[in-house]
Amino acid sequence: MIKASQERATAIAWTDQTWNPVSGCSKVSEGCRFCYAETLSLRFGHSKAAWTALNAPMNVRIKPDKLRDPIRIKAPSRIFVNSMSDLFQPEVPSEFIVQVLDVMRATPRHAYQVLTKRPERLAEFSDLYPPNCWLGVSIESDRHVDRADYLREIRLPAVRFISAEPLLGPLPSLRLDGLDWVIVGGESGAHIGKHPERHMDHAWARDLRDRCVVAGIPFFFKQSSAVRTEVGIHLQEADGTFWHWREFPDAWHSNPFRGFDAVRGPEVYPAP
Ligand code: SF4
Repeated sequence: MIKASQERATAIAWTDQTWNPVSGCSKVSEGCRFCYAETLSLRFGHSKAAWTALNAPMNVRIKPDKLRDPIRIKAPSRIFVNSMSDLFQPEVPSEFIVQVLDVMRATPRHAYQVLTKRPERLAEFSDLYPPNCWLGVSIESDRHVDRADYLREIRLPAVRFISAEPLLGPLPSLRLDGLDWVIVGGESGAHIGKHPERHMDHAWARDLRDRCVVAGIPFFFKQSSAVRTEVGIHLQEADGTFWHWREFPDAWHSNPFRGFDAVRGPEVYPAP
C-alpha cells in the first residue's frame, strides 16, 4: 500500500512502502511453496485459483492506474516494487516494465527495491535501469545461487542485493563479489509449525553474516522462522546471545535527497 506521508506502510522491515503495479504471480521454485502473497490473494478473493503457471494468465493483473502512486510520496522513501507479485514474470509485457522503470527515473528521491526469482528476464533490461533502482534476486537454497550471476551482468545499478528468505538451507556456494547488500530471513506463516524441515537454522544466517563482514557488505537479519511475520528479529550467536543486525547499503545513507532525515542510527547492537 502506498502512503503519501513518510509513515511506514508495511511490516517489511527493510523497506518503507510497497508499490504493486502488478498483482498475481506463479510459483517458480521451492521458496514459493507457501507464498504469502498467494495466501492473501486467495483469502481476499483477488485470485480465484492457485498460483500455478497454467493459471497465471487469469491471476496476473497489470495495473496502469497504480503507475503514478510513487509520485504522490513526497518524502524520499525505500519502495519495494511488487511485494505481491514478480515484475519479470512472462505475463507482464515488456512495454509495461519500461513504464515502471520510467516512473522510477522520474522520482530520483526514492530508492526502488526490485526483487525477483526470474533473473533471466531482469537481465534483459540491463541498460534501462535508472540509478535509484536496487536490483535483487531471491535465493532460498544453494541450488539457486546462480540467480546472483545475472545481477553481476547488469551495469551499474545503485545496489545489487540478495534476499535469502525464506532461507531453507545453507548457501556455501553463494559468491558475494559484486553484491552490495544481503538480507536473510526464515519462513513465516501459519503452516510453519507443521513443517520443521523449513525452519531456518541461525547457523546458516551467521555463516552469511560472517562472510558479509569479511567482504564489507551490509547484512540485514530480518527474522527467524515464525508463525507471524517480523517475529524473532534478532540473530542468535553460537554462544546463545542475540543481536540486532540490520544494516542498509551506503546508497541509502548517502541519498542526497534525504537531507536532515539521513541521521544514521546504530544498525548493529546486542538485543535489548
Ligand atoms: S515469485 Fe514471489 S510472488 Fe511469485 S509465487 Fe514466488 S514467492 Fe510468490
